[in-house]
Amino acid sequence: MAHSVSTEALQILWDWLRQQSLLRSPFFPVLFSLTVYLSCCLPYICLDLLYYRLTLVRRFKIQPQSKVTWAMAWKCLRKILHNHVCFIFPLSVVHWYFRPVFSPLLAPRMFTVLRDVLACLLLFDMQYFFWHLLHHKVSWLYHFFHKEHHFYTASFSLTTEHTGVWEMLSLSVFTTLNPVLLDCHPLTEMLFYITNMYLSVEAHSGYEFPWSPHRLVPFGLYGGARHHDLHHLKFKVNYAPYFTHWDRFLGTLRRGEDTQRKSGKISERS
Ligand SMILES: [Zn+2]
Ligand SMILES: [Zn+2]
Repeated sequence: MAHSVSTEALQILWDWLRQQSLLRSPFFPVLFSLTVYLSCCLPYICLDLLYYRLTLVRRFKIQPQSKVTWAMAWKCLRKILHNHVCFIFPLSVVHWYFRPVFSPLLAPRMFTVLRDVLACLLLFDMQYFFWHLLHHKVSWLYHFFHKEHHFYTASFSLTTEHTGVWEMLSLSVFTTLNPVLLDCHPLTEMLFYITNMYLSVEAHSGYEFPWSPHRLVPFGLYGGARHHDLHHLKFKVNYAPYFTHWDRFLGTLRRGEDTQRKSGKISERS
């Protein structure tokens, strides 16, 4: 019963989306990407603003001494807008031209959506793990292509897409390719994109709550914010973006509790 209700809700959502002409516009991918990204960052930006006023917020901060300033936020925003306008927009127009929007009548079933989104996430996790490992092990790859993402040793939400062009394009290829490889419904593709973005921003948020994904997924299978925060702090550990199995297999997994937190103000790497 619950299953058919959720599938019906997906059909209503899909019927509404199919009527939106914006969905077929070449501007849609870039607007969608920016909107989803900024919407995921917004709650954490508010927390960063409240940081100075509320002690409660500081209690959930992974590196309590780190502060996010307007200058840091603006630097990230400028980078994100530049990458979207100069690279994501032209590429999404090319993608739109060669792969016109496919719009089937029926929405996918809820079970299929959940299964496909999880499969896309696991695939993305593996692709990024090996890309990331390679870009840390080969010094010139790190220097030219990944160093920019490590500018801050205490991440905050807007650092999620603070990357160089090559890293941004690699991630975009993985995100775009996976739903195609797994033959996903366009609605599933959108839901995967939103989930992937949320998890990525959450991993960079610098906050850890009782309801954070790594606290909800059992057996330490999911790394989340503490896991990725440690990567930004220690560099040679925790290469996977979300799950912990690849780092566990290859001996690069470190738990946040294993390592003493660095104190002092946020540091920057140039
Ligand atoms: Zn890295
Ligand atoms: Zn990162």
